[in-house]
Amino acid sequence: MNLPSSRLTWNLLAYLSLATTPLIAQPPTVDNVILITLDGARTQEIFSGLDIDVLQSSRNDVPVETTAVYQQYWASTPEARRRQLMPFFWGTLMADYGSIAGNRTRGSVVELTNTQRFSYPGYSEILTGESHDDVITSNENRRYSFPTVLDFLRTELRLDRERVAVFAAWETFRWIVSNKVDTFTVNAGYQSSDDPNPTIRTLTNQQFETLTPWDSVRHDFYTFRLAMAHLAAYKPRVLYLALGETDDWAHDGRYDRTLQALNQFDDYLQELWEWLEADSQYRNRTGIIITVDHGRGNTAADWTDHGNATEGAQYIWMAFVSPTVSLRGEWSDHEPIGQNQVAATLAHFLGFDFRTQTPTAGPPIETLFIQEH
Ligand SMILES: [Zn+2]
Repeated sequence: MNLPSSRLTWNLLAYLSLATTPLIAQPPTVDNVILITLDGARTQEIFSGLDIDVLQSSRNDVPVETTAVYQQYWASTPEARRRQLMPFFWGTLMADYGSIAGNRTRGSVVELTNTQRFSYPGYSEILTGESHDDVITSNENRRYSFPTVLDFLRTELRLDRERVAVFAAWETFRWIVSNKVDTFTVNAGYQSSDDPNPTIRTLTNQQFETLTPWDSVRHDFYTFRLAMAHLAAYKPRVLYLALGETDDWAHDGRYDRTLQALNQFDDYLQELWEWLEADSQYRNRTGIIITVDHGRGNTAADWTDHGNATEGAQYIWMAFVSPTVSLRGEWSDHEPIGQNQVAATLAHFLGFDFRTQTPTAGPPIETLFIQEH
């Protein structure tokens, strides 16, 4: 982790000047948290943009230079390519407001602690703070007994059902996000809604007229638009946006659409960010984690796949945006971060200790909170 030395010095001085005041310092906290996941988005595209070997393998019918995605996203350096693909994320969000871990070329590792390397175990690890390899071994629509960080925060913050909200592309999230039925807002996959809000009504109706190639995953458009409508109508303090097209297009071998989904996400992220910045409940009062359930294969032969036998699928990435955290850009040379640390980190942003509920969960990511000490 590269911490600017001036900040360390400042913190040391601030600490020393506070030494005569009560020693139990109040850690800086936020009022709202937002979790965003992009199913199966590889570290390769996030940190290096378009992967020419993968594009070549997926389009061997034409010279690769003639393809639209090459013309749109190719550049000669990884930094230029990723910025071409995700201009808001790299040019603004990570430059001015947040930081990202997981670029292994910089000695930054974020990894699964589950050994399965597919979706349900990954999302469960994110939300429950630990892997359950002995129990969760499939993507079946099943509910398990482990309480999630969403359950925990709803209880701790005593929130109404609208103020903890999940909007997800994949239907299985209806079972993943809680060990209880219907204690907070969940809309996942092709699911109608009895919400009286007219925008939410219209969107949930229209999704059935615009089907994807996949039975259990709707277009990210609906998931994002529903989340934005709910955000404006109900001002949730805990929001989880789970997008899915990055995984499904990759399984289908459509590298062009996989890149397009990442680029579209970048637009969505900008719209969300600008909305948050314009709202007094959220501006400077919101912590955000953006991450992924699993990685995928490293090569042109296996980039479409993931699972316990796929080398590379154990590596993920994680981005953090919070007014309480001064880190910017890419992390380097630090202790590996586990996927099992997301739940406790989200809770810690709000000032809660998730391990009072789940003592065996991974700890909060300490580096994010170093300024507190
Ligand atoms: Zn998948």
